[in-house]
Amino acid sequence: MNCKPVIVVHGGAWAIPDCLAESSTDGVKSAAQQGFLVLKHGGSSLQAVESAVRILEDNPAFDAGHGAVLNADGKVELDAIIMDGRNLSVGSVSCIKNIANPITFARSVLEKTPHAMLTGEGANAFAEKMSIPTVPTKELVTEHAIKEWEQYQKYNQSVTTLFNTEKAHDTVGAVAMDSEGNVACATSTGGITNKMVGRTGDSPIIGSGGYADNFVGAVSTTGHGESIMKVTLARHVLFNIERGKSPKDAADQALDYMYNRVHGRGGLIVVSKTGEWSASFTTKRMAWAGIDGGVLSYGLNPGEHFQVSLDNIR
Ligand code: ASP
Repeated sequence: MNCKPVIVVHGGAWAIPDCLAESSTDGVKSAAQQGFLVLKHGGSSLQAVESAVRILEDNPAFDAGHGAVLNADGKVELDAIIMDGRNLSVGSVSCIKNIANPITFARSVLEKTPHAMLTGEGANAFAEKMSIPTVPTKELVTEHAIKEWEQYQKYNQSVTTLFNTEKAHDTVGAVAMDSEGNVACATSTGGITNKMVGRTGDSPIIGSGGYADNFVGAVSTTGHGESIMKVTLARHVLFNIERGKSPKDAADQALDYMYNRVHGRGGLIVVSKTGEWSASFTTKRMAWAGIDGGVLSYGLNPGEHFQVSLDNIR
């Protein structure tokens, strides 16, 4: 098969403040370019989504890897998932502490264990066995994350208040289709500020934070984790595509359903098995970027869809 490669990435659906608008947009654009380069050189969709998400994890503008938000104890706990649409292989990790690139760790769960998901201490022990690079946890913590955590402690805001004000955070994700027509997804997050210790969100949960199936397409989600899990958002979008909807309509309908049914807001990116793709959200903003053919598309505000030819990018 010789398909046209596609990659789409997101940097989280939330009320991104103006001071982070440019760094978020630049971050998703460069991650999409990195992922596309992998595809262009014949890499698989699995490699491309891992590579794009690593770039976002390394960028402190996003709540994943470096820049992760802090839990109620002021500590980092990270979740991630990666899934291969060829055979539905999946690797996910939750509540891990000192790993800068949880997505690479999730990939070793996919490739080197008979399991789909590892959590907590056991996950960290396996990471050590696999020689996954670790970092002192404090290296992942940014000034911004500390300030935000202090604010939450001071005003005693709950996670529910956080999402009512849409001040929820910026998980990252990617979906791709390679030239063989294989799709994959990856999602990585620090979760939400002031979450209970041990809280696992939607991001590492199969069918909620992501799903990839060559027979339908691939999805990566972001937003209020507890709502996303209740409606299994990623699989819901693919279910809509299976019922004949376009990726855009499938995504919009699933997000509307989540809002109407459980009052949750969020966003997602999707690529179908035919290479059509979409980026949708019901929060104030979501930074996203997609590359399809020679064109880089990106946006941040509702309805925005800027396009630039890749030839015009250094
Ligand atoms: N979905 C993530 C979580 O609830 C947060 C986000 O996407 O911003 O852990």
